[in-house]
Amino acid sequence: MAEKEKAIDLNCAVCRNQLKQPRTGRCGHNYCTQCLETVLKLLRKKQSKEHVEGSGPESLGKVIFQCPVEDCQVTSVIPNATVDSFTINDKILKEIESQQAQKKKTMCQKHSREKCRWLCLTCKTEICEICIEDHHKLNHKYMNQKKVVEMYTKFCKELFEKKKRK
Ligand SMILES: [Zn+2]
Ligand SMILES: [Zn+2]
Ligand SMILES: [Zn+2]
Ligand SMILES: [Zn+2]
Repeated sequence: MAEKEKAIDLNCAVCRNQLKQPRTGRCGHNYCTQCLETVLKLLRKKQSKEHVEGSGPESLGKVIFQCPVEDCQVTSVIPNATVDSFTINDKILKEIESQQAQKKKTMCQKHSREKCRWLCLTCKTEICEICIEDHHKLNHKYMNQKKVVEMYTKFCKELFEKKKRK
């Protein structure tokens, strides 16, 4: 498998949604455990019918899995037709978890759908667009977070310049 350092695809190759309990196939594509179970079940049903005649007992319970990704189509034989043949992908799992945590962190605690783009300087908390109204009523000073970062960078730069001059 060629390891290309590109952004990891966090979507399932079967349902195209964000991976749930990701597992990796031989080709390196990822699938939700649930999706794999569904696919394997279908394959087992289909293939057990096709293989009734002419195949020995050793083929029983085995399933030929074909990766559903369009230009991949790597096939592999899955003994017992269980998801255990696919490795649990911890790396992807961690990636998804950290993404979700990141998302949560930037969301307003009161209004979970709003991002905290503002900072109230009076109560020193991150606030969202809706929160502003309350803080405004209280006569609080608030600022866009981008501005705060800009100011801070400028402040640091000035500090650094001063030090250099000494
Ligand atoms: Zn899926
Ligand atoms: Zn594949
Ligand atoms: Zn405030
Ligand atoms: Zn809010």
